Amino acid sequence: SNVPSITLNNGVEMPQLGFGVWQVPDAEAAAAVTTALEAGYRSIDTAAIYENERGTGEAVAASGIPREELFVTTKLWNSEQGYDSTLRAFDASLDKLGLDHVDLYLIHWPVPAKDAYVDTYRAFEKILADGRARAIGVSNFLPEHLERLIGETSVVPAVNQIELHPQLAQAESREAHAKHGIATEAWSPLGQGRGLLDVPAIVAIGRKHGRTPAQVVLRWHLQLGNVVIPKSVTPSRIRENIDVFGFELDAEDLAAIAALDEGRRLGPNPAEFNVGA
Ligand code: NAD
Repeated sequence: SNVPSITLNNGVEMPQLGFGVWQVPDAEAAAAVTTALEAGYRSIDTAAIYENERGTGEAVAASGIPREELFVTTKLWNSEQGYDSTLRAFDASLDKLGLDHVDLYLIHWPVPAKDAYVDTYRAFEKILADGRARAIGVSNFLPEHLERLIGETSVVPAVNQIELHPQLAQAESREAHAKHGIATEAWSPLGQGRGLLDVPAIVAIGRKHGRTPAQVVLRWHLQLGNVVIPKSVTPSRIRENIDVFGFELDAEDLAAIAALDEGRRLGPNPAEFNVGA
């Protein structure tokens, strides 16, 4: 496919655009992931809590695509944080995926009330050293969580996957990531399809380029250097969302989109999200 890769801080290459499967039921995940792989996606973003690692793994196995051409990410759920429980949860994820390694393993949330992400990450470092993950990282970590983690462990996270879209541009986090060589991966890159895609400025830029609002938003992420993982179960949208490499936003477009930042989250604030603590 024509999706460019970015080089993570440990030299591993990660496709800049992948397929997210949050809220896809396990029984539908294989079909959705198969459609995505046929459309050219080579990176899949799942998580233990999505309960669709099995369906995702089935599609990967059935695709016949060589393992080294695929990039599979999964995440450790909050309730499993802690050194030993992480190692057990990782085994369970690999088993469901039907894989002997993942490309990227992420701590799903910091869960400040549990205060276990440092121990959890030490287990991640063991998983990395054992070659069972090609890269390790975090998700939903605020700059203060990153600072502590980096201060108390040896491997700088390769990725921080955070909520990021034009209405929540996350300048502060992006700056913290750049300082440490951490790749910024955007979750809900399309703002969950709620409202953002109807914003007049986005629609107008789409008309100007003969592109859809979703394609405009994905292009904005790519030009900023973000990794994106849009989700859809609709085959035409799955294809539309990867067809974003034949046009470019200009400085005026980028400025108009930058003006949409409201700093408003769709999801929880990581400082207060302690589900599973
Ligand atoms: P998204 O921003 O990718 O939006 C998906 C929704 O937008 C779809 O359900 C659909 O309603 C709509 N949509 C998709 N393509 C469209 C198109 N071309 N035209 C019009 N509408 C379209 O939202 P998301 O699923 O929340 O995020 C993407 C992925 O990010 C998830 O699947 C998951 O893998 C990951 N994620 C991670 C976390 C985390 O805590 N780490 C949290 C949420 C999501």
